[in-house]
Amino acid sequence: MSAADLLERSLAAVWHPCTQMRHHQPGAATPLPLVPIVRGQGVWLEDASGRRLLDGISSWWVNLFGHCHPRIGAAIKDQLDTLEHVMLAGCTHPPVVELSERLAALTGHHLGHAFYASDGASATEVALKMSAHTWRNRGRAQKCRFVSLAGGYHGETVGALAVTDVPLFRDAYAPLVLAGTAVMSPDARQAQAGENAADVALRAAEALEAHLAAHHEETAALIVEPLVQGAAGMAMYDPAYLRHARALCDRYAVHLIADEIAMGCGRTGTFFASEQAGVWPDFLCLSKGISAGYLPLSLVLTTDAVFNAFLDDDVARGFLHSHSYTGNPLACRAALATLDLFRDEDVLTANISRARRLREAFDKRFAEHPQLRHHRAQGMVLAFDVADAPADFSRRFFAAALEAGVLLRPIGPTVYFMPPYVIDDVEIDHLMDGAAMALARALA
Ligand SMILES: *Cc1c(COP(=O)(O)O)cnc(C)c1O
Repeated sequence: MSAADLLERSLAAVWHPCTQMRHHQPGAATPLPLVPIVRGQGVWLEDASGRRLLDGISSWWVNLFGHCHPRIGAAIKDQLDTLEHVMLAGCTHPPVVELSERLAALTGHHLGHAFYASDGASATEVALKMSAHTWRNRGRAQKCRFVSLAGGYHGETVGALAVTDVPLFRDAYAPLVLAGTAVMSPDARQAQAGENAADVALRAAEALEAHLAAHHEETAALIVEPLVQGAAGMAMYDPAYLRHARALCDRYAVHLIADEIAMGCGRTGTFFASEQAGVWPDFLCLSKGISAGYLPLSLVLTTDAVFNAFLDDDVARGFLHSHSYTGNPLACRAALATLDLFRDEDVLTANISRARRLREAFDKRFAEHPQLRHHRAQGMVLAFDVADAPADFSRRFFAAALEAGVLLRPIGPTVYFMPPYVIDDVEIDHLMDGAAMALARALA
């Protein structure tokens, strides 16, 4: 298929996600280019005309080790010739057992039970349902409402939208959604004069406490994205908030759900973002990076206490949730290969210097720019906000970045970088130079 062919046929037959399709059509004001990708290697994607693009956002935060990593590919090929799939109700298989055990070990066995699904929103749904069902099984069925953070994102199914506070994603479906309550985010950008990030975290914790004091009788769980609220525009906050939240949840008998779908798997500098606060949630959701962009996989890790609340001779007290592809062996092998890479290549240590190099290259291009605000970084996530950005800034920047050989997709006025963990020094310079060029053009 030629590039032109690919584009034309895609626009006719494929309904692209998270996109106003009109923006892809000829004649749109500020058209959004559609990029026909034919192969990938490391941090690079190649389009149908042979142009190379550096994947600066790990293809929506999933491709932790870039594209076509030989070890992950080999693990999947091996599994493909062994067992491609078997249902997980009534059957089990080596990859799902090994993955569950290794993830439990990574939590120090605080979260020793793994429940599987295939995408992030489903993991959110599993955690919400498990939490409310736990309280029901304990005779507290009125504890069935949820509290989340302002600007929080936990997926876009009708259930997950209950705790996703992004009006653009939720408003059209508001009548379908049993919305929970969003309390103040600890987003450090809200610091007032004389306040630091920890002060903002404390203020947000006070808001949470006020909510729980009034509503704990009907609240099942608090759900948060630990350390960085991704879709809110990489809103970063002090880990002290998670300690306050853990203590408040304990005091008011409310579960804590850590949605690490985006920020787990080393993105923030530790394998789990929650580790930086020194607390464990009651439920931990993983997806995106856990299978490194190879196959869809998500899971929820939880405690003995939750698991035991479902054990009974009565079937209806069990957790009967299921998806056809639950615990797919190929996806589990991709995840095991991902964990092997963390172990064998000491990725977290290597990322400390990689993150430092990224920050240097980032500061060199952007620190002094008069229109930029809130330069921030957490592990392998870097971001800044553009003041007075035009309404179509994100699309303009995306298009300009392609011209400069980088794939970046701002969230509103926030430009962010979440590169694969294999990016080298030369590629870091290419990424930041490309972004600087795109910024100049998008603001011209
Ligand atoms: C992406 C994301 C989700 C949803 O995952 P999908 O696989 O897109 O359904 C949930 N929570 C967070 C924090 C995410 O970043």
